[in-house]
Amino acid sequence: MATFPDHLVVGRFAPSPTGALHTGSLVAAVGSYLMAKQGGGRWVLRLDDLDRSRQVPGMADDILRTLESFGLLWDGEVAFQSRHQDDYQHFFELLQQAGSIYPCSCSRKEIARSASAPHPGDEGVRYPGSCRDGKTGAAIRSWRVRAPEAEICFSDLRNGRYCQKLSAVSGDFVIRRGDGEFAYQLAVVVDDYLAGVNQVVRGDDLLSSTPRQIYLQKLLGLPQPDYCHLPLVTGPDGLKLSKRDHLISSQLGNVVGRERSLLFAVLHFLGQNPPAELAECPPAAILEWGATHFQLLHLPAHGGTLGI
Ligand code: GLU
Repeated sequence: MATFPDHLVVGRFAPSPTGALHTGSLVAAVGSYLMAKQGGGRWVLRLDDLDRSRQVPGMADDILRTLESFGLLWDGEVAFQSRHQDDYQHFFELLQQAGSIYPCSCSRKEIARSASAPHPGDEGVRYPGSCRDGKTGAAIRSWRVRAPEAEICFSDLRNGRYCQKLSAVSGDFVIRRGDGEFAYQLAVVVDDYLAGVNQVVRGDDLLSSTPRQIYLQKLLGLPQPDYCHLPLVTGPDGLKLSKRDHLISSQLGNVVGRERSLLFAVLHFLGQNPPAELAECPPAAILEWGATHFQLLHLPAHGGTLGI
């Protein structure tokens, strides 16, 4: 794995190339960037391209170009999940050797979608553990981690203490599909470890996935990053922003000339009180101001619309 001095923050942004960035992903990108750069840390970029069926050709490139136009320049090489299969296999085998996982023949929507990060509405219901004691039937449709009875708790930098009893919420969860494809929950843990990431800043919709990721870190003996889940951008009706809304894409040509106002609006959204004159400055200067003045305690308790 990548090693950096102990004190250095290594943050990351990990978009999926299933569509263009939108204002919600810009908040996650800017928030993770500012929190990494605040103390002179690194900000790395990974494209979560495991789920080939949901990828849109050209999107990976569009995301990179769009980030560049905002001055959100990453450190080092871009990582691609699709190139980490051997690493996932290695950690999968460790879990197998430890008896932490078992094959399962049950067919569920959750298995089909397991390669993608679950967002609200994707999660489905708790798995009842039907295959736990070896009743797998013929075909292996997934590999599942035995969920512990004890609660998994962690301290989120914005939300505070968060606890989840995995056995009651997700049940035994999928880390690999029967066709060999690895699930998001295992991939993200391995990827963050390999990149030396010690600070994960992302949207609140992934807060409920974090205990599963922490449990995998515990099983594999990997260090646990700090987590900060940011409030979500909603539509004016308070509802979740759909992926089609508020797209920000260099390909669509809708970024040029809007970088300053969008970055300024994101700083506001994150509670950072930028001075009005900053809105006229180039993107790099807005980000620099944000990193220098970033106050964790000013992050808002709730999401809402992005005032643009
Ligand atoms: N690729 C995931 C997504 O776009 C995010 C993964 C993460 O931040 O852990 O939803």
